Amino acid sequence: MIQTIIVFLIIGLIITGILISSIINKQRRNRLKKRPFPPLWNAIVENNLPIYTRLSPDERRRLQGHVQVFLAEKQFIGCQGLQMTEEMKLTIAAVACLLLLNERGEYFPKLRSILIYPSAYIVNETVATSEYVVEERRVARLGESWSRDQVVLSWEQVQQDTRNWSDGHNVILHEFAHQLDQEEGKAQGVPILPRKSDYPIWARVMTQAYQQLCNDVQRGIKNVMDSYGATNPAEFFAVATETFFEKPQQLLKMHPALYELLQGYYQVDPGEWV
Ligand SMILES: [Zn+2]
Repeated sequence: MIQTIIVFLIIGLIITGILISSIINKQRRNRLKKRPFPPLWNAIVENNLPIYTRLSPDERRRLQGHVQVFLAEKQFIGCQGLQMTEEMKLTIAAVACLLLLNERGEYFPKLRSILIYPSAYIVNETVATSEYVVEERRVARLGESWSRDQVVLSWEQVQQDTRNWSDGHNVILHEFAHQLDQEEGKAQGVPILPRKSDYPIWARVMTQAYQQLCNDVQRGIKNVMDSYGATNPAEFFAVATETFFEKPQQLLKMHPALYELLQGYYQVDPGEWV
């Protein structure tokens, strides 16, 4: 009997501890969000995020708040001797936080650090070339999202993507979409959705658009989304996110159901920013 009481007491204490820490966390984030956004930061974001000035005043204010939290909570690590600058941190934070305007209250919870290389970086990749042969190859990468706790980016690629905002390619949007997808385990093209009833609709619309992209790639037909999205459903979600933010009008025209789905998920309408 006493043992049962002790077990319940311990469980109760753990639950209370979790609740208290989440309240403290929320209050700390609210304080961070209220911090004034320095004019220099504003100038950097304005310069490096072409759609920033097109956001509504409310969206801009919320984005600034998220950037404050993001910068306070995530660690930036320069690789191969790269010195981190405010411009690098703010550019990455501002683009990544565009994905958080839906106010879910989460800030890529698994992510701890962002590793930045000056340009494309080389990794050793193990590839199965046949059933019995596994080869180690050295391949160049521009960015990747690890489900563990890191996102890796090439600064050269980030700069190129922010300069060419409307080409549908953006390594930051891509890798941080993977982070959303990885919040609940492995990336599978399904982030956490607000309601249980959202999942069947998500599956239907995504599968249809993914299959169309796969068909188009096979037949050599041009699609508004990059052919890399036909790799698998996880890459499709990341590529669809890039297209949604960078080529909203074309995506709406070609895939209205997919556009509507992403608009509902991200709670923004990038078509209004064009
Ligand atoms: Zn990817």
